[in-house]
Amino acid sequence: MKLEPIIGLEIHVQLKTASKLFCPCDNRGELLPPNTAICPICVGHPGTLPVPNQRAVEFGVLLGLTLNCTIARHLTFDRKHYFYPDLPKGYQISQSDNALCTDGFFEFDVPGAHVPRGHVRIGIERSHLEEDAAKSFHQDGETLVDFNRGGTPLMETVTRPDFKTPHEARIFLQELRALVRALGISEGDMEKGHLRCDANISLRPVGEETLCPKTEIKNINSFRSVERALEYEIKRQTELWEADSPPDHQSTRNWDDVAQRTTESRTKEAAHDYRFFPEPDIPPFDLAELTATMREKIPELPAARRERFMREYGFSAPDARQLVDDDALASYAEHVMSEFFDWARTAAPDISEDELRTRAAKLISGWLLSKYLGILNDLGRLFTPTIVTPENFAEFLTLIQQNKMNSSLAQRVLREMVEHGADPSHVLEQMVGGDTAPTVEVAVQEVIATFPDQVAQYRAGKTAVLQFLVGQVMKKTKGVADPKTIADTFNQLL
Ligand code: ZN
Ligand code: MN
Repeated sequence: MKLEPIIGLEIHVQLKTASKLFCPCDNRGELLPPNTAICPICVGHPGTLPVPNQRAVEFGVLLGLTLNCTIARHLTFDRKHYFYPDLPKGYQISQSDNALCTDGFFEFDVPGAHVPRGHVRIGIERSHLEEDAAKSFHQDGETLVDFNRGGTPLMETVTRPDFKTPHEARIFLQELRALVRALGISEGDMEKGHLRCDANISLRPVGEETLCPKTEIKNINSFRSVERALEYEIKRQTELWEADSPPDHQSTRNWDDVAQRTTESRTKEAAHDYRFFPEPDIPPFDLAELTATMREKIPELPAARRERFMREYGFSAPDARQLVDDDALASYAEHVMSEFFDWARTAAPDISEDELRTRAAKLISGWLLSKYLGILNDLGRLFTPTIVTPENFAEFLTLIQQNKMNSSLAQRVLREMVEHGADPSHVLEQMVGGDTAPTVEVAVQEVIATFPDQVAQYRAGKTAVLQFLVGQVMKKTKGVADPKTIADTFNQLL
């Protein structure tokens, strides 16, 4: 019997509004001391009235439009009742039947040679707005609650069960992260819980139409775990099918990232009765005008931007993906490129535009994506556009392009720039002592004069000696010149 997996995802995206969904409290409560970003509204005191945050509604509509959803004509909320210490009102303000966004789809490419589908279209059942619960901590046999997160705006997106492989589910989540970052509506960081995912999976014999009872996997904390947890479930459920006892009821399982397996969750499986009913404290709001306004505000989306980065700048597909995954990094790279082009068009007008693009893409790939991000990683810092300004980074690249420093010196200069925010010419001057280093050509002539024996050997065909001569020039130029330029100069002069 051949089995196929049926996979769907439920994703909560935390919106980065300034204030919470229904009150003026600071929405960055995770950075503040426990229970300091709270007020009578978000801790559910009787007699308080929630007021919807317009920015959160705008963010939700923006997400829905880019997921090709239909946007509800009116915004309405519902109360979803359950009892838990992190929910002081005894209900969550969410959306039931009239979800903000419904019936959309999202398309993306799945890179890799051996994937069953290179281009995937996933149906979006719904995406709705709701408030987050508070956060509880269990320690020393006690439960503590921090209400800072209570009332944070979330968009909950439910996909249709259209994924064919765990890998597709992972790529979808990564695409969703790139999307919410490009829209500027969320940090989209899974590790920080800004993007939370539950995965639903069942198997069925190929060719059958009915769906079998699904298993919901919770506690997935990274893109890698989404894929691993689903792979694990496929294996586990395949064994059940092969033993002639496929899952016969819906269940919930937790992903254990340490043991790399799922375990049956002890929460009771009785169908929940949330007693949904319309939130009476928030009157319906006509969304027609807001939706039309947001439609005009859709920025360039990640897939289009990646494509443009490859076409316009000549980036490789993986480089374009890495840049565009982080909106701030992508904008930074574009700024650096434009500064670099401005310089090059004046300083080296003989270089063709094509050649210039190729060089710039190579420099960005090596020096921004590899070296610079590597240095930040070493220092335990995250990328921000202000550590090294785009102007300074472009200047740094032009110094490399002009052969004013070789690779190892450039790495030292870059590190200095990162640590002290200095401009590259200044750092370089301090490192090599201003203009005292001779130019490559002068240094090569000096070395030819100082080492006549080695020069004679080289001329006689003993090419290995060139390395020694190049080394002498490197010493004289204090590491400013790169070995290839020096070797070329020798070849010209000898
Ligand atoms: Zn509040
Ligand atoms: Mn939810």
